[in-house]
Amino acid sequence: MLKIYRNMKKFAAPIAGILLLLFLQVMSDLYLPTLMSDIVNNGILEGNVAYIWKTGAVMLLAAAGGVVCAVAAGYLGAKVAVGMGRMLRNQLFRHVESFSLSEFERFGSSTLITRTTNDIIQVQTVTIMIINMMVRAPLTCVGGVIQAYHQDRMLTLILAVALPVLILVIAFVTSKVIPLFRQVQQKLDGMNLILRENLTGIRVIRAFNKKDHETAKFENANRDLTDTYIRVNRIMAFLMPMMMLIMNLVTVSILWFGSKRIDTGEMNIGALMAFTQYAMQIMFSLLMFVMMFVMIPRAQAAADRINAVLGTAPEITDPDSPATAENKKGYVEFRNVTFRYRGAEQPAIRNVSFSVRPGETTAVIGGTGSGKSTLLKLISRFYEADEGEILVDGTDVKAMAQKDLRRRIGFVPQQASLFTGTVKENLLFGKEDATQAEVYHAAEVAQASKFISEMPQGYDSLLAEGGRNLSGGQKQRLSIARALVRKPEIYVFDDSFSALDFKTDAKLRAALKQDTKQATVIIVAQRVGTVMDADRIIVLDEGSVAGIGTHRELLKECGVYREIAASQLSEEELS
Ligand code: ADP
Ligand code: MG
Repeated sequence: MLKIYRNMKKFAAPIAGILLLLFLQVMSDLYLPTLMSDIVNNGILEGNVAYIWKTGAVMLLAAAGGVVCAVAAGYLGAKVAVGMGRMLRNQLFRHVESFSLSEFERFGSSTLITRTTNDIIQVQTVTIMIINMMVRAPLTCVGGVIQAYHQDRMLTLILAVALPVLILVIAFVTSKVIPLFRQVQQKLDGMNLILRENLTGIRVIRAFNKKDHETAKFENANRDLTDTYIRVNRIMAFLMPMMMLIMNLVTVSILWFGSKRIDTGEMNIGALMAFTQYAMQIMFSLLMFVMMFVMIPRAQAAADRINAVLGTAPEITDPDSPATAENKKGYVEFRNVTFRYRGAEQPAIRNVSFSVRPGETTAVIGGTGSGKSTLLKLISRFYEADEGEILVDGTDVKAMAQKDLRRRIGFVPQQASLFTGTVKENLLFGKEDATQAEVYHAAEVAQASKFISEMPQGYDSLLAEGGRNLSGGQKQRLSIARALVRKPEIYVFDDSFSALDFKTDAKLRAALKQDTKQATVIIVAQRVGTVMDADRIIVLDEGSVAGIGTHRELLKECGVYREIAASQLSEEELS
């Protein structure tokens, strides 16, 4: 947790203010019983009305001052806590944005969300508690003992007996409760995971009739969590009556021994009343300490999870002095590139070399899992190649700034992902200043203009989260149009035609060919029909290049390609 606080220097001044205010408030709290004792002894017992009024006024002032300080401290405290939460969330979000896909996959988006929301709130809450307790508890405790001792030395012996007992009880309870709270945190995570998986996979769960199975799984996790909570609360429930018992015993013994001392004239009533109040203050301050010690481990667990994210250095960073690619445009070259996903046994891409030039269409074909998507992701440097070099426009991608690199590429991913907003906003995603005409043209080429104009508000129709209210083919076409609006040098389509019917596919590709004459086009496809007329076809097989050439050449020379083609084309088309 300290690590998190180190970056929060900005809040040093308000925190110092809070500490000062709390200090004043505790002082007023500690002063009040003494004043009361004075009123009883010198005012009421002596019948001195003027003294009662005078001291009473001082008491009121002190109490009011205490309240003002407490309110001001609370206000500042809330501001600091919320401001800190905001700063942390920003920090975390910005850091996560700099992650490459490897780091994303290592954490998983679900826990990144809990870490940014839940865990930060956890830290925020405890921080404010710590700021409050840090001054209040020890000061009240020590100050209370001093004041009590000041009122009556003999009675302080009672505290000398009671406090160690109280501390023992507290130590016992916290030692039991803290590990349980750690478990609660873990079990909460576990339950979140199940819940999230269920919510995102609800269709599959319904389709496979796995509702009962999933419900049982959730119930188990839920019961597990509940049981742990109950165990925590059982122990905590024991603490409160125990504290009350000790406090009441202390009060009774103070009154008992105190009255005896009053009898013998060694003590007066005012001192006895003040002493009782100090005893209460001291014991309550100890109780506050307990609360803090119970909360800190929970916040510590949250802080550790936040730090784990903040401490992860992004694998892909921009070079200090990024190279601006030469005046070349639309060149992509792979030189003996090998890439393995973290934790995978086999490389997904093995020793791949090829090069493409502007004005050409290059197709990548191969079975599922042969590494086609991986190959395309490497061009945009979503992952870092383990061996070999990837050159875009004649420059190593590692030497380029990521922004500069990706500006050159119009990427249409296999899973079309759209954003909440209007159709137009989505199309302008890659080029905010595109004109109306450019947007319409892109939609036209992507064969999307017809269905867009049929939507209730045309280009201003709202898309739900992730484009839920569109069909797979519509999403693909919008995602293609989005890349076209950008007018990049290099177009990369990852199986982006798979959800289109043959007719639309053919129309789209014909229009695309017209539109991308000058550009470089790299297409991943499943259908031989889609890639047949490409200038160059790269056949991938389990991550390695099985052959490169035109359709005709590959049919003659490449066994893997012939197999794929044979499974899709008729005899006459093959020959
Ligand atoms: P294709 O697009 O040709 O179907 P991919 O490039 O998606 O194939 O995947 C190639 C191989 O890499 C597969 O064996 C797949 O299991 C693995 N793979 C793909 N994505 C990841 C990932 N994010 N983490 C680990 N392994 C992956
Ligand atoms: Mg793929």
